[in-house]
Amino acid sequence: MKVEIEESSGFCFGVENAIKMTEEALKSGEEIYSLGHIVHNEVEVTRLKNLGLRTISHDEFRNLKNRKVVIRAHGEPPETYRIARENNIDIIEATCPIVKSIQKKVKDNFEKSGKDVQNLIFGKREHAEVIGLLGQTEGKSILLTGIEDIDKIDFSKPADIFSQTTKSREKYAELIKQIRLRYEKGGYRPGEMLKVNNTICGQVANREPKLKHFSRQHDVIIFVSGKKSSNGKMLYEACSGVNPSTYFISDTTEINKQWFDKVSTVGVCGATSTPKWLIKKVAEKIQMLDSKKD
Ligand code: SF4
Repeated sequence: MKVEIEESSGFCFGVENAIKMTEEALKSGEEIYSLGHIVHNEVEVTRLKNLGLRTISHDEFRNLKNRKVVIRAHGEPPETYRIARENNIDIIEATCPIVKSIQKKVKDNFEKSGKDVQNLIFGKREHAEVIGLLGQTEGKSILLTGIEDIDKIDFSKPADIFSQTTKSREKYAELIKQIRLRYEKGGYRPGEMLKVNNTICGQVANREPKLKHFSRQHDVIIFVSGKKSSNGKMLYEACSGVNPSTYFISDTTEINKQWFDKVSTVGVCGATSTPKWLIKKVAEKIQMLDSKKD
């Protein structure tokens, strides 16, 4: 049985950078805290915990003083930085540069256009990156989790829309189409009232067609991701949409050898929050199970 790893699998550069900065900080021997899980991958979180990283919640952060805290790739709202200043917290800034620039754009836009223009954020409720984006406009943005939320928009006023970086391009395009249709129904010209910002990250979006192509080439696909990963969910759906024999696992212990009965090729891939070392470990375990069959 042939087992192949999809070549682009592994961390995106934003997560890789955050992990490197954390590992570097841990080398000093000081206590290092991460505000929320450093990455949406339980296995990688455990690995870093074993190196000494302490993960704290936002409530715990409020009471923490004089310590070093990593801000993960998803970023944080301005409130977090205010608390850090008050509590003499030394921030290790690992916000992904792409997220940082979107936060700035949202903020600048909001300050320039004022309250006459609605600020729309397409994203997952309670997702760290979305909280960070909403925080740029003093909580005055409208969160759209999907088409079902578009009645929250006032269609007599213009709007700017931004997306969480890890959303699907197709779903964003469909949402934009529906919003434009509603404006047109109100008598406005197409595109007149809605300014679209293309903020979906290429590191995720470009991986989607690659994974679809890869999934078609194999009998079985093993998709490795943390259960809480947004892009993991989206990319898994992309794989299972073209190959029904796609299995979602978070660790090697979840592999079921019956999945590989009478199978000649297995593809292993994952989310942008899945470490490459874990993907390799999964591929090795599958290969080992196959060699035991002989
Ligand atoms: S998915 Fe893109 S925006 Fe998000 S952390 Fe990775 S590189 Fe940055």
